[in-house]
Amino acid sequence: MSTIHGIGVSPGRIIGQVRRMADPIDAPQDPGAQELASPGYVEEATARLTEAGRAVAAGLRARAGQAHGAGAEVLSATALMATDSMLHKTAGKALAAGRGLEPAIWEAAETVAAMLTSLGGYMAERAADVLDVRSRLIAELRGVPAPGIPDSGSPFILLARDLAPADTATLDPAQVTALVTSEGGPQSHTAILARALGLPAIVAAVGAESIVEGTDIYVDGAAGTVCTCPGTEEQAAALAFAARGPLEVFNGHGTTADGHPVPLLANVGGGSDAVAAAAAGAEGVGLLRTEFCFLGRDAEPGHDEQVAAYGAVFVEFPGRKVVVRTLDAGADKPLPFLTDATEPNPALGVRGFRTSAGTPGVLARQLAAIAAAAAAHQAQVKVMAPMISTAQEATDFAALCAVAGLPDPGVMVEVPSAAVRAASVLRPVAFASIGTNDLTQYTLAADRQLAPLAALNDPWQPAVLELIRLTVAGAEAAGDSSAPLRPVGVCGEAAADPALAVVLVGLGVASLSMTARALAPVAAVLRTVTHAQAVSLAALAVEAEGPAQARAAVRAALPVLDELGL
Ligand code: PEP
Ligand code: MG
Repeated sequence: MSTIHGIGVSPGRIIGQVRRMADPIDAPQDPGAQELASPGYVEEATARLTEAGRAVAAGLRARAGQAHGAGAEVLSATALMATDSMLHKTAGKALAAGRGLEPAIWEAAETVAAMLTSLGGYMAERAADVLDVRSRLIAELRGVPAPGIPDSGSPFILLARDLAPADTATLDPAQVTALVTSEGGPQSHTAILARALGLPAIVAAVGAESIVEGTDIYVDGAAGTVCTCPGTEEQAAALAFAARGPLEVFNGHGTTADGHPVPLLANVGGGSDAVAAAAAGAEGVGLLRTEFCFLGRDAEPGHDEQVAAYGAVFVEFPGRKVVVRTLDAGADKPLPFLTDATEPNPALGVRGFRTSAGTPGVLARQLAAIAAAAAAHQAQVKVMAPMISTAQEATDFAALCAVAGLPDPGVMVEVPSAAVRAASVLRPVAFASIGTNDLTQYTLAADRQLAPLAALNDPWQPAVLELIRLTVAGAEAAGDSSAPLRPVGVCGEAAADPALAVVLVGLGVASLSMTARALAPVAAVLRTVTHAQAVSLAALAVEAEGPAQARAAVRAALPVLDELGL
C-alpha cells in the first residue's frame, strides 16, 4: 500500500476513481519554414481551424446541456466563442500573413481578448472565454484532452496541479467527489473552494502526479493522506463516513458546552453568498470581501454600483452585524485600478490599506458608499481595513471613517507588526479581526500560494497561535474608560477548522467568521467543550513543537471530530 501525504484542507473520507485535469496548453511555436511554404498550407489550415471550432463548440454545447445554472451559462457562452467570426477572421489574416496555424489562433485570441477588455463591462468579462476557447481549439488540433475539468459519465476524484478560479465555474460537486492537488497551499483558491462546496480535499500532495488515471484511491481530507491501494481498513473508514448521521443544522447561536457565547459569522463575497450564509444560520457577516464584487475591473466602480453591491449583503442581515472590509487589492486579488501588476513582490507590496496613500480618494469614496448603503438598511454595519501594520495607519483609517460617519471602525490583524504592537494599533479603533491566512504567510515568510511552502503556511504553526494570543492580550491592554473592550475575532480560514476553532476560543478570540458551510461543523464541535477545556487545549497547541504536534494533540482530545467525520 502506498500513501501520499499532503495537507488536508477539507475533511471527509472517500474512495473513488481518479480523473486527471489536463495540463494547460503552452504557447505554440511556428512550424518550420518548409511546412509554412508548402502549397495549400493556408487553405488547409483554415479548413482545420473551422473544423476544430465546430468540434469544440459541439462538445461545449453538449456539456452545457448537462450542467445547471451559472455553469451552463459559462459553457454556452464559451461554445459561441469557438465559432466566433471575429476570432476566425483575425486568425485567417495571421495565416495569410505567413504564421503557422497554432500561433495564428494564439495571437488572434490575444488580439480579440484585448479588444473586449478595452470595451469594459460585460464585453470585458468575455475576454476570459476567448482565452479558454483558444486552449480548447489547440487541444483539439493536437488531439490532446482539453484543459479544465474532465468529462466523465460517473463521479470521480479530481486530481490536478491546482485549480484556477475559472475551473471552479464548471466544477459540479455531483461529479467531483473529492479534490487532490499536487500544488496549492491551505489558503489557495482550491482549498477555499473545497471548503465552500464541502468536498474532501488535499493540497500540496507531492507525488500525486504519478497516480494513474482511472485507479481507485482513498482520500482522507482531515488527515491529508491519499492511499493509492485502499484495503479493508480504508473501505471501512469510507463506509463509516458515508453512513455518518447528518450534522445538526446550525441553530444560529454559537456557544461552548458551558454557555460561553461565541458568535459564528460568515465570510461572504457578495449578495448571493449572503443569501446562503443567512440560510445557514450565520449570526451576521464577519468579513465582506468587497474586492470580490469588483475583481478584474480596470475602473473604480461608481457610487451607485457600490451602494447596490453592499446593500445586497446588508438586506440579508437586518439587525445583525455585517463587517465590511474595505478593498483589499493586491497580490492574489489584483484590482487594476488600484494595484501595480509589475511590482516584483506583490505580497509585500502596495496592497490592502496601503493603496490608499498612492490612490487617494478611492477609500473615501468607498466609505461614503458603505455609509449610504448602511443608511438604507437595518444591518449593524461596521467597517475594517485590511493589512494594517502600524498604529498610525489605524489612526488614519479611523479618521477617514469618522469623516464618512461610520462609527466603531476596526482593523484586520494580518501583519505580525500589528499583532506584536496590538495595544497601540487597537487603541484608535473599536475592534480587530485576525486574518490568519495572511498572518500565517507573513509570520512564516511563506507565500500563501506556493505549494512547496504549504507545510510552513499552516495556521496551526505555534508561532501564529502565539501572535493571536499577543493580539488578544494587546486588545485587553488597549481598553480604556470609553471602550473597555476591543473584541478580537478571527476571519481567516483557521476559523473554519473545527479543531482550530476550539483553540482560537481558548486563546480569547471573541467571534469566528467562516465560509457558510463550516458553521454547522464548527458549532457542533464547540458545543462539546467547556470554555476552560478550550483554554487548556489552546495552551497545548501553543506549547507544541510544531503544527503537526499541535493539531494531533488537540484532535486527540476531541473525539467528537471522528464521530462526525471531521
Ligand atoms: C486573511 O488574510 O486571513 C483574510 C481573511 O483575508 P484574505 O484571505 O481575503 O486575504
Ligand atoms: Mg488577508
